[in-house]
Amino acid sequence: MGIVVEAVSKQFGSFKALDQVSVEIKTGGLVALLGPSGSGKSTLLRLIAGLEMPDTGKIFLTGKDATYTSVQERNIGFVFQHYALFKHLSVRKNIAFGLEIQKASKSKIKAKVEELLELVQLAGLGDRYPSQLSGGQRQRVALARALAVEPTVLLLDEPFGALDAKVRKDLRAWLRRLHDEVHVTTVFVTHDQEEAMEVSDEIVVMNKGQIEQVGTPAQVYDHPATPFVMSFIGPVNVLPSSSRMFQANGFDSPHPEVFLRPQDVMIETHGNGSSVGARVSRIIHLGWEVQAELTLDDGQVVAAHLTRDRFDELNLQPQQRVYVKPKEAKAFPLHYSI
Ligand code: ADP
Ligand code: MG
Repeated sequence: MGIVVEAVSKQFGSFKALDQVSVEIKTGGLVALLGPSGSGKSTLLRLIAGLEMPDTGKIFLTGKDATYTSVQERNIGFVFQHYALFKHLSVRKNIAFGLEIQKASKSKIKAKVEELLELVQLAGLGDRYPSQLSGGQRQRVALARALAVEPTVLLLDEPFGALDAKVRKDLRAWLRRLHDEVHVTTVFVTHDQEEAMEVSDEIVVMNKGQIEQVGTPAQVYDHPATPFVMSFIGPVNVLPSSSRMFQANGFDSPHPEVFLRPQDVMIETHGNGSSVGARVSRIIHLGWEVQAELTLDDGQVVAAHLTRDRFDELNLQPQQRVYVKPKEAKAFPLHYSI
């Protein structure tokens, strides 16, 4: 195991930032810590790095108890959202920094820096200064600097958070490819579910200082363990289980609320015994996907997402009368599909 976190708790004053958190991260894996702001992601990362000590619990790195070892001993690479590069040092010198501290030989440093410039696709920019780089390029330098010392573990705390949407998307794909090359055990913090799903092998979903679920992107999306996970990972309609849409389909739930993904709302132009009437109250075109807002006959408003093809097939118009039924729904822990 690359990283084992065992029943770790951390309190700031009377506030429990982490409450009995246990998680295992495989050697060579790329794991995302995903959760809303304040859920304890950075605290967990800082504990793994050795920047904070847990109140209780243990942290093992590559099989050894590292709970009370120093940051240096842990051999961690760290990149933050606002990771200030040394402004007065060139890109090359920034990347070489950790190796110079380690007193590596000049030839080793030179070879490593060139290799990393290549890896982060900045070959030719080694003599520039941080101010002469774009935000995305700076974060790639920060990553090269973190990788230079060949860390056992790479920790990234919202590394692309300050960049604009397009650059962020490019860097995600780039990070994924980079990890496929270097295979260093990586923990990536984000509050963006799409980013977590795109980048990581496994997602640790956090909420209020606790772990709600650990799973692959497909597992947490298709089989959310809790209502929180279901509503945090992807859009969801929360409807009363008494709604006729569920009753008409024999989805008898003891729970008051049923969670229904917008893409699981099936729209038909003709009704039958298992569908309920609705009116199309709004249509939003998003390229290949169309989002429709439907007002059911009982007044409930439901979001439905459909492919462009299906939308064209139905020839949906604003205010049109339609019939809907759920394809899949969940009322924890009950799962229903027709
Ligand atoms: P996240 O990274 O998920 O947004 P954090 O781990 O940074 O969450 O913080 C979790 C909670 O712990 C927040 O409410 C934050 O205010 C609190 N917290 C974090 N670090 C400290 C600290 N050093 N002192 C006091 N409170 C802190
Ligand atoms: Mg944070």
